[in-house]
Amino acid sequence: MDIAIVGTGYVGLVSGACFADFGHAVVCVDSSEARVETLRAGKVPYYEPGLAELVERNAAAGRLEFTSDLGSAVQRATVIFLAVGTPEGNGGQADLSQVEAAVRALCAHLDDRHRVLVTKSTVPVGTGTRLQELIRAHAPSFTDIDVVSNPEFLREGSAINDFMRPDRVVIGTSSGRAASIMREIYRPLYLFETPVLMTDVPTAEMIKTAANAFLAVRISFINEIANLCDRAGADVHSVAKGLGLDKRIGSKFLHPGPGYGGSCFPKDTRALAALGTSLGAPQRIVETAITVNERQKALTFEKVEARLGPVAGRTIAVLGLAFKPNTSDVREAPALHLCRQLAAAGAVVRASDPVAIEEARTALGAGAGAVEFVADASDAARAADALVIMTEWNEYRSLDLPLLRQVMRGNLLVDARNVLEPHAVVAAGFEYVSTGRQAVAVAGTLV
Ligand code: NAD
Repeated sequence: MDIAIVGTGYVGLVSGACFADFGHAVVCVDSSEARVETLRAGKVPYYEPGLAELVERNAAAGRLEFTSDLGSAVQRATVIFLAVGTPEGNGGQADLSQVEAAVRALCAHLDDRHRVLVTKSTVPVGTGTRLQELIRAHAPSFTDIDVVSNPEFLREGSAINDFMRPDRVVIGTSSGRAASIMREIYRPLYLFETPVLMTDVPTAEMIKTAANAFLAVRISFINEIANLCDRAGADVHSVAKGLGLDKRIGSKFLHPGPGYGGSCFPKDTRALAALGTSLGAPQRIVETAITVNERQKALTFEKVEARLGPVAGRTIAVLGLAFKPNTSDVREAPALHLCRQLAAAGAVVRASDPVAIEEARTALGAGAGAVEFVADASDAARAADALVIMTEWNEYRSLDLPLLRQVMRGNLLVDARNVLEPHAVVAAGFEYVSTGRQAVAVAGTLV
């Protein structure tokens, strides 16, 4: 199958490389010449485990190309995937300008050959209809094109595995021709008996938005339970285990922390809330999950100040800048929120991350001047009054606690992700503050 992917970000590049690995001929298009040059030079512009090797292998096999020439890619392709950004617009709703600009641009290159236009970007329900109108307005009258929704559920950090072994593939279309082409594209997944859910376009769009909102609600729920555990003297991990063993609830997405971030949950929940309001079906539960998350993001700073007093002039070490481990993505990362709060309050911030320092520096912009970026945990901890773990990178699970305590000035350790064993932290001479666990916790045991 000849496939064009428009947009080579986290979703477009992974999709393109994986489709090429399935054996399809893939051209990835990006409007950023710099990004295309980087990819042609064999470099991947962000950190995603295994992606550089997958790109290299498929490019070498001649199945994966990169271009900024949309016209040539569209002319060759039978199926065109849209994987451009859908950031937050004013008022919270999804900003579809990248999607619409891409569709308007590709219309000029369509002929009378049948093609399938697939939205992989996360878009609000109703976008498929809007794109059909755009095509009618901008494409030649003889154009033969089906619009399909095929939302993407991959997670950064495990994107390749998620794409190659998804829980399900959702395909929204009312065209039989497009449905069989889409099934053919995903045929390699039939080997693993991957469920393929066929729906109409609006339903597929809704599934993606509802899935992200539901996961965000679960996170906000367990964060509030964790905050209550902090006050009430219970252990949130055992609570989560007790909940998760109930098959009606399940154990996933019940891990408390400093609030959710990333390029999806914050904007997608706000987009759903805005859509609900505009269509007269308010999404109160999601609206509350958003409010709870904003509060949770502010809480880590408050935990530091509750122990240290005003942080002006104090040195705070921040471990982890990416919004989660195994990615260099810092979009809406709770750690950046904390860095901004600390810097605004006059603290000396010393921050580290295994892969996301440059991304954090760029994202903080002028504010980056107030943050000293250092190579590792012991550099960050030197003469610090407090150490805060904000991303659950594996290397932070096995910190040399006695060494860190030795090089620090103070003894406060705020483990916002609950990655450490409380008794080990206390034994190393720290005051331990977590999210919903007691300093000397009795772990839940199954007998
Ligand atoms: P991104 O910002 O990383 O990448 C978007 C890319 O599109 C950029 O490289 C940009 O240069 C390019 N682009 C923009 N306009 C273009 C145009 N007209 N022509 C060609 N290229 C163009 O975005 P992302 O994180 O990959 O997300 C893409 C979409 O997928 C979003 O809708 C997002 O919500 C959704 N999504 C993201 C994830 C994730 O984990 N990042 C997961 C599932 C779904």
